[in-house]
Amino acid sequence: MHTRYSDGKREPEAYIEAALNLGLKEIGFSDHLNPSGGDLQWCMNHDRLPAYAEHILRLKKEHTDIAVRLGLEADYLPGTEKVTEEIINSFPFDYIIGSVHYLGAETVDLGPGFYIGKDINLIYENYFNLVCEAASTGFFDIMGHPDLVRIHRFRPDADITTLYRMMASAFEIHDVAFELNTNGRNKPLHDFYPDKNYLNIFAEHGVPVCVNSDAHFPERTGQHFTEAYELLRRAGYSEMAVFSGRKRFMIPF
Ligand SMILES: [Zn+2]
Repeated sequence: MHTRYSDGKREPEAYIEAALNLGLKEIGFSDHLNPSGGDLQWCMNHDRLPAYAEHILRLKKEHTDIAVRLGLEADYLPGTEKVTEEIINSFPFDYIIGSVHYLGAETVDLGPGFYIGKDINLIYENYFNLVCEAASTGFFDIMGHPDLVRIHRFRPDADITTLYRMMASAFEIHDVAFELNTNGRNKPLHDFYPDKNYLNIFAEHGVPVCVNSDAHFPERTGQHFTEAYELLRRAGYSEMAVFSGRKRFMIPF
C-alpha cells in the first residue's frame, strides 16, 4: 500500500478499512523511499520516516482483526547502499521491497518519452541486469514489479526468455521473493508484472511469490487477486510468501 506518506492518496486507516471489507487477513504498507533523498513528489521525505513507522506500528498494535505489516518500497540506486542499509536497519520493518524505477538518471515509468528512439532490447537487458544486481545486495525481501520496463508497451524484438531465466536464477541464488503486482492493470501496460508468460520460469526456480496490489488508493486494495491466484496456480504455484520481522513465511492460496 502507498499512503499519503509518499504518493498514495489516503491515510493508512482507509486502506485497512478497505482490506477488512474484503476479508483480507493481512495488509502491508510500503511507501516509496528514494535513498538519494530525491524525487520527493512521489517518495517520502527521509525526515518523515519516524512518523511513518510510528503510525504503522500504532495501527499494528491497535488491530487484532488484521495483521498490519510495516514495509518500505526502496529504490535500488547503485552508490546509495550506505544510506539504504542505515535506513532499513533503523526501523522494525517486516519487509523491504526493492524496486528499480531508474536507469541512470531517468525513470522508466513516468512516461513513454524514455523509450522513444532508443534500443528497446538494450533497455530491457539493462533493466533486468539492474534488478538482478539489486537482488544480490541482500537489502531486499521482495523484488517489486520486476519487469516494470514493460509499462509503456515498447516491446523488444529479441527473445527475452533468457532475461527471465537470468532473473529467476538470480532471485533463487540470492533468496529473494518477487511480487505479482496487479497494479500494472491500471497502467498503460494493462497487465500484471511480471509477464504471465514467464511465471512458470520463476516457479521452476522455486522463487517465492507475493501477491501485491501496489494500491495508491484504498479502492485498489486487493484488486484482481482472484485472477492473480489463478495465474499463479497455472504456473505451478500453490503458496505465497508473507513477511514478519523480515522473516519469510509461506501460506497456501
Ligand atoms: Zn514501484
